[in-house]
Amino acid sequence: MANKRDYYEVLGVAKGATQDEIKKAYRKLAVQFHPDKNPGDHTAEEKFKEVGEAYDVLSDEQKRAAYDRYGHAAFAGGSPGAGGPRGGFHDPMDIFREVFGGGGGGGDIFDMFFGGGGRRRGPGGAQRGSDLRYGLEITLEEAAKGVEKELEFERLIACKTCNGSGSKSGSGTKQCRTCGGVGQVIRSGGIFQIQQTCPECQGSGQTISDPCRDCHGVGRAKDKTRIRLKIPAGIEDGSRLRSSGNGDAGTKGGPSGDLYVVISIKAHDLFERDGFDLHCEVPVGYPTAALGGEVTVPTLDGKATVKVPAGTQTGSTFRLRGQGMKRLDADRRGDLYVHVQVAVPTKLNAEQKEKLQEFAKALGEHHSPMQESFFERAKKFFF
Ligand SMILES: [Zn+2]
Ligand SMILES: [Zn+2]
Repeated sequence: MANKRDYYEVLGVAKGATQDEIKKAYRKLAVQFHPDKNPGDHTAEEKFKEVGEAYDVLSDEQKRAAYDRYGHAAFAGGSPGAGGPRGGFHDPMDIFREVFGGGGGGGDIFDMFFGGGGRRRGPGGAQRGSDLRYGLEITLEEAAKGVEKELEFERLIACKTCNGSGSKSGSGTKQCRTCGGVGQVIRSGGIFQIQQTCPECQGSGQTISDPCRDCHGVGRAKDKTRIRLKIPAGIEDGSRLRSSGNGDAGTKGGPSGDLYVVISIKAHDLFERDGFDLHCEVPVGYPTAALGGEVTVPTLDGKATVKVPAGTQTGSTFRLRGQGMKRLDADRRGDLYVHVQVAVPTKLNAEQKEKLQEFAKALGEHHSPMQESFFERAKKFFF
């Protein structure tokens, strides 16, 4: 997240830019930095992703409002808080396709920009790798404080034997026989002639003459990858974190996909979360509830002492400020609400029973506010 450029600056538009201006700016930059136009140029690839992400946010009024308020922090954990927009960013290629339309069959808008010839997959049939999804379960304590996790997962990487080329010699390609190197084939469909991506070379116009023995010409192989992932304090259940470039490797030099880590938070034995606040039920002994006293309550950091007044009832709530979850959008914490459950003793011995009966007699007609209100309301049913 560090050194991330301002989205308005990325697109070169003013803060108050209209949707039309934003779209126009995106179109211009997306074409300029499109990977098909800048083969193997990593700076251009990053720029293409950056303008895609900026457009993804600024073209969506809800995401834009969140960004205007919180800046990049709005999307740090995939979600800026209760009720905010959820989820990460869309695939920059998908955004591009959406804005420019087409993307389906042959001869679409790409050809207008990039000179056609069925090179939509990039030079030599390069294609972006797939995005991967990783489900990660963390504890509430980890979500509260933030945590760094090591993830191990399988993904496709460029074959080490052939460096992803798929060819034993590294350059063993020959012109595709099916399409004659054009990458497209013409199929006759009744009165129409349909132009299609060549099924033999997938549009690259080249086939491999000496396939690599390890990957059989595919150029990719399964491999275990380990990454360390920082999970921000205050992250919410269901948030998505993106690890850029950690998806499957692209084919024939195409860019890698991304890894999306979907966070789920384990149910906690004591605390229930509500946004950035926590709720906890705490049993309080009957004498303490009646006479008032101190009660020890659990907190995320250990424990705290709460003074309960005389006459504390079941359902009485006490708020411990700043003992909740850390907020994603600010450097402060939510609150912890302690809900009292008055505990009724069980398994009384003879002496205790006697004392309690004595107490009951002394109490006489005295009732708690709860009972008084109940009898008031129940009168008409009793008589
Ligand atoms: Zn290989
Ligand atoms: Zn072909």
